[in-house]
Amino acid sequence: MNVKDKEFEVYISEAKILERTREIATKINEEFKDQDPLFIGILNGSFMFAADLMKAVDIPSEITFIKVSSYQATQSTGKVKELVGLQQNIFNRNIILIEDIVDTGRTMEHLITDFKELGPKSISICSLLYKPEALKADLDIRYVGFEIPNRFVLGYGLDYDGYGRNLRDIYQLKE
Ligand code: 5GP
Repeated sequence: MNVKDKEFEVYISEAKILERTREIATKINEEFKDQDPLFIGILNGSFMFAADLMKAVDIPSEITFIKVSSYQATQSTGKVKELVGLQQNIFNRNIILIEDIVDTGRTMEHLITDFKELGPKSISICSLLYKPEALKADLDIRYVGFEIPNRFVLGYGLDYDGYGRNLRDIYQLKE
């Protein structure tokens, strides 16, 4: 399968993704029963995972979405990430962040630092994919769909240069 100039092959099928997503939701239903969690999906990549996960969550809960914007800071060489679009008051709430993939973990690390300043009761991470070999941050990922090797993936919300988010399965770059 070609997306733009690259060739990809199916890596995790839609059926497997849905099966694993339901298992995660079952755990969340048990562990957050009576906790009134606020799910926060990180756009754009998490939109499909968040939708399927929430269809299997059956406890009282809310969901909202935010974006992370990256910009080049004037005083530093590194990219600074900022959360955009959070409207809910998260003070004293149990937050579950829904992410498509944790790669180096830098995005999550920045987000958690920002969220902590807003005084939530707890923050948990739920990521569909996780590349342990790439991790450079000190992160505790409470719910992981699949641990994958350090290779580029797309589909099911994840893009290659803007394309491929609509694919039902997860694909891996063909070597
Ligand atoms: P991190 O800050 O953990 O290095 O990067 C997280 C973000 O990088 C993800 O939310 C995702 O947008 C992007 N990313 C990391 N690895 C991949 C990958 O293999 N495929 C795609 N499509 N995006 C990735």
